[in-house]
Amino acid sequence: MSFACIEEVCHSFGSNRVLNAFSLRLESGRFTVLAGRNGSGKTTAARLLNALVIPDRGSVIVDGYDSRDKASVFEIRKRIGLVLQNPENQIVADTVEDDVAFGPENLGLSSDEIRRRVDASLKAVGLYDKRLDNPSSLSGGQKQKLAIAGVLALGPKCIILDESLSMLDRPSRADLLKLIRRLCDEDGIAVLLITHDMEEAAYSDYVYVMDGGSVVMKGSAAEILTDERSLHLHGLRTPVACAAASRLREKGYPVPQDVLTEEDLLSFIGGAAC
Ligand code: ADP
Repeated sequence: MSFACIEEVCHSFGSNRVLNAFSLRLESGRFTVLAGRNGSGKTTAARLLNALVIPDRGSVIVDGYDSRDKASVFEIRKRIGLVLQNPENQIVADTVEDDVAFGPENLGLSSDEIRRRVDASLKAVGLYDKRLDNPSSLSGGQKQKLAIAGVLALGPKCIILDESLSMLDRPSRADLLKLIRRLCDEDGIAVLLITHDMEEAAYSDYVYVMDGGSVVMKGSAAEILTDERSLHLHGLRTPVACAAASRLREKGYPVPQDVLTEEDLLSFIGGAAC
C-alpha cells in the first residue's frame, strides 16, 4: 500500500479551480518529484498532503489516515515534515542545536530522547560541528540543511521539500540531493520534492508533472526527462545533460536513455574514451 495517496482531488479557492481531478501517490523509500510551472498547483498539493488544505472533492489518505476526518489531522502532521523554500522563516532559536530541539521539545519527549534526536539529525545533514553556532552565521545551504534537520528530529515518515533547493548554489544543492537519496534508501522515508527545475528531477525515482491543476505526465525520471517536447509544452526545460545526450544519440552515439545528469554524461564519455 502507498504511504500517501491523493485520489481525484478537485479544489477551488473562491472561483479559482486550482486542482482538477488531481491524483498522486507517495511510496516509502521513494524519491518523488512534483514538477510544474508557477501557478500549476504544486504548493496546494503539498498543503493537501499535510492537511493544511482539505479537498472540496476526492480524498487524501496518509498512512491510513483520511485528511477529511478531523481526528486524523494530528496523526497526519506527525508523519509528514514540510520544508519550505526560505529557510530564514523556519529558524526559531539562537543556536543550531536549540533550533533543531524546538520541534521534539514540543512533542513532550524526554531530554535524553531530544538529545539523541538532535545529535542524529545534525549528523545526518552534516551540521553537527556547527551545533553551538548561531543559525544567522550559516550559509543559505547550511540554513536549509538546518531546516531539514529540524524536520528529521520530529521522526517523520515523509518529508516534503517545497522549492527548498531553488535558492541554493550548486554544491549545496548537490549535498542536499545526496541527503535526500540517503533518507530514502537507508531510512525508508518517502520524499516529495516540489520544483520547477528539472535538473533536480534527474536525481529522483519518479516524476509527476502538473499543469493547470492536473497531472499531465508521470513516469520514471528517465521516461519524463527524455520527453523534451512534452516538457516544453508544459513550460519546463530538459536538463542540460539530457539534452546533450539526446543530441549525441541523434548523431549516432549509443548514449543510454538513463544518462540524465552531468555525472552520468561525463562517466559515459569517460567510458567511451577508454
Ligand atoms: P505552484 O506551487 O505550482 O506555484 P500554487 O499551488 O501555489 O501553485 O497556486 C496555484 C493557484 O492557486 C495560483 O493561482 C494561486 O494564486 C492560487 N492559490 C494558492 N493558494 C491560495 C490561497 N490560499 N487562496 C487563494 N488562492 C490561492
